[in-house]
Amino acid sequence: MGQEPRHILSLSGGKDSAALAIYLRDRIPQIEYIFHDTDKELEETYDYIHRLEAILGKPIVRTTPEDSFDHWLKVYRGMLPSNHRRWCTKMLKLKPFEAYVGDGPVINYVGLRADENRTGYISTKPNILAVYPFQDDGLVRADIIRILEDSGLGLPPYMDWGRSRSGCYFCFYQQKIEWVRLLEKHPKYFALAMEYEEKAVLHGEQFYWCKNEPLRELAKPERVQAIKDNWETAEARRRKARKNISLAETLGGLEPEDDPHLRDGCLVCSI
Ligand code: SF4
Repeated sequence: MGQEPRHILSLSGGKDSAALAIYLRDRIPQIEYIFHDTDKELEETYDYIHRLEAILGKPIVRTTPEDSFDHWLKVYRGMLPSNHRRWCTKMLKLKPFEAYVGDGPVINYVGLRADENRTGYISTKPNILAVYPFQDDGLVRADIIRILEDSGLGLPPYMDWGRSRSGCYFCFYQQKIEWVRLLEKHPKYFALAMEYEEKAVLHGEQFYWCKNEPLRELAKPERVQAIKDNWETAEARRRKARKNISLAETLGGLEPEDDPHLRDGCLVCSI
């Protein structure tokens, strides 16, 4: 007889994986929950994972990588990660996941919903079978919000101030409006991100987290105001186009289809 598979769910600190953990808690009691801690997450994310752990009633294993972001940054000779050279996901999320999983058979539960059309790297290891319970059972965004509310966990607290993502505070997938919100909510994280950017110059590279704009420029009051105004205008257009979507569904102010992080499939960091 073949070896029984382990059942594993990776939590990102995002709402969909949290809802899936709650959804599967009683259905698959032997499930193992893991969280790949980059050590660069927002404190709200750590708090959310902690509260989720209490609701699940079992530990969420932290697969903190042996080597930190700053270690890998040195290995990559000061080259900060970006969409085109995403070593951060590989070194801080995927490798720790595969190390934790090992070589035995594993069923990997992924929180993609039935109302979205995302893809992304899960794992190509042949012993890992990815399954999508929300898609199989037809659960959409409103169902996920209901699961989170009924459990008492609610949405991730960073959504209260308009951030759409879990993951590193400096994640290069952030939209400009999210950088502005980070600046206003967590100026110390914004300053740290700016420091990384400015140090990159010392390694001979002009690197900006946010496309072609240095964070120091983006933080200027007139730029902050312009970004907010642009966002308000775009948001008014979007609201018009989706009159029938409930307030709960638009919490956070960013929809997945607006969000390149989600569109581009960095599932392990953000789902
Ligand atoms: S959240 Fe962003 S910066 Fe952090 S590991 Fe994922 S892709 Fe990289």
